[in-house]
Amino acid sequence: MAADSAPLLAAVHSRFIVVGGGIAGVTCAELLAAEFPSDYILLVTASPVIKAVVNFRQVSRTLEEFDVEEQASSVLEKRYPNIKVIQSGVKWLKSGEHKIITEAGEEHAYEKLCLCAGAKPKLITEGNPFVLGIRDTDSAAEFQKRLGKAKRITIVGNGGIALELVYEIEGCEVIWAIKDKAIGNTFFDAGAAEFLIPKLSAEKPEPPLACKRTKYTTSGGTPESEMEEGAAASPGKIGSALGPDWHEGLHLKGAKKLSHKVHIENLCEIKKTYLQEEFQQLQKRSLAFPKAQQDKGDAETDEEPWPVYVELTNGKIYGCDFIVSATGVVPNVQPFLDGNNFALGEDGGLKVDKCMNTSLPDIYAAGDICTTSWEPSPVWQQMRLWTQARQMGWYAAKCMAADTLGEPVDMDFSFELFAHVTKFFNYKVVLLGKYNAQGLGSDHELMLRCTKGLEYIKVVMQNGRMLGAVLIGETDLEETFENLILNQMDLSRYGEHLLDPNIDIEDYFD
Ligand code: FAD
Repeated sequence: MAADSAPLLAAVHSRFIVVGGGIAGVTCAELLAAEFPSDYILLVTASPVIKAVVNFRQVSRTLEEFDVEEQASSVLEKRYPNIKVIQSGVKWLKSGEHKIITEAGEEHAYEKLCLCAGAKPKLITEGNPFVLGIRDTDSAAEFQKRLGKAKRITIVGNGGIALELVYEIEGCEVIWAIKDKAIGNTFFDAGAAEFLIPKLSAEKPEPPLACKRTKYTTSGGTPESEMEEGAAASPGKIGSALGPDWHEGLHLKGAKKLSHKVHIENLCEIKKTYLQEEFQQLQKRSLAFPKAQQDKGDAETDEEPWPVYVELTNGKIYGCDFIVSATGVVPNVQPFLDGNNFALGEDGGLKVDKCMNTSLPDIYAAGDICTTSWEPSPVWQQMRLWTQARQMGWYAAKCMAADTLGEPVDMDFSFELFAHVTKFFNYKVVLLGKYNAQGLGSDHELMLRCTKGLEYIKVVMQNGRMLGAVLIGETDLEETFENLILNQMDLSRYGEHLLDPNIDIEDYFD
């Protein structure tokens, strides 16, 4: 492949180049800029805005919370005068020559490169105008626009995005197709899912008056402030992924006058989609929206014509206005593969070792694009989340700096324990370690404590030691459990009293 759309300009040399203006790339560039104040750090990104971490709070040793703000690149350049942002996608990586070539035809030579180009939504089918993926500000805005006119949509997938959508959407019937038995399988087990389900039919609390994150629309419009003149989304270019609270500030209301209306179809996938004309020609029958969750497919025939129909693997067919494909992401490695023999992980990400090095010399990777290939701590696993994008971006910069200066570097503490705090169905959710007994087979025990509507606590134990926990609600146990998982104290003698609500466990172990 050659950069054929624009003439090549003479290569400009930078000691460090970071590709991607998402959390991983921006964090990496910021740390490099701070460590090498007399060097220019080049940040090359396809998106017109960058993502910055703001209001960072270290909640405990490993748990962190922060907000994410979309900012014009000039704001970053003002904060770090030695960062230069170039808004153009990387079209070609010539790893042998230590060069990248941008869509604009510019050549940039590097000593060390960090690839942080994120991931793309995995769509159930490509090229169907009625199938949407949600990834960046543009796709979220498109979704909101279509939802405003929709009476029924189908959501496919069972991860964080699907969970948030089914809870947030009002004024529209939602058919939610999940391949697992219980909802939220990426984060929860069946018990936690049961705890959460009543929230789907309960009235939602009033949304906060002010949105806590600043949001910009990049689709043609200029944001209210700080956006560089002329900066607009380039069609077909991938923007940064959305993240925590991405739906706050978006009006997720359909065309009907109703609150939540969600029907879950579990243990199934999408077998086929039909456009209206094809569906009518085939004289297929679709089902009306089930009146109750228990309806087993003996629901009435739906006489209403719909723009698109989904046939599920359980044989049921529903019509809807559009389909949201929330079935995960694929690392965005494609722009960098031509002529470069990167080792890829099973999930298609660039394999990185314990120093965030890819398999090619002087090329690092961080965030959603990479797949970690080091032997992890027994209570850590990679998940494509904000927190890990920030931690990896920071640690990759540390490794690049250490390598440049010939210094050793220790694995960052954040990789000792998987720790994530988020919100689902308006509950605080803390996930620690092997919270879903990942990889433990049957050699573990679970302990549960549940107060309906208030809290759900699950701990994963192995040989008397705590390996993971799910805390839903205001439990205040995260720090204690974090310590118990990290220090691997033998808790056998406490037995079930570990979760006894009458014992102040926090005091006990402090
Ligand atoms: P991204 O943020 O995707 O950034 C990639 C950057 O690379 C972008 O700036 C893009 O423009 C640029 N780029 C792409 N290709 C090129 C190229 N060829 N050349 C130059 N630049 C390029 N995580 C959570 O922890 N909690 C949540 O609640 C949560 N909710 C989410 C909701 C949604 C809808 C989505 C989509 C994701 C959510 N995530 C959440 C995941 C989280 O957003 C990602 O894990 C995180 O943003 C990854 O950061 P990143 O920097 O690796 O990639």
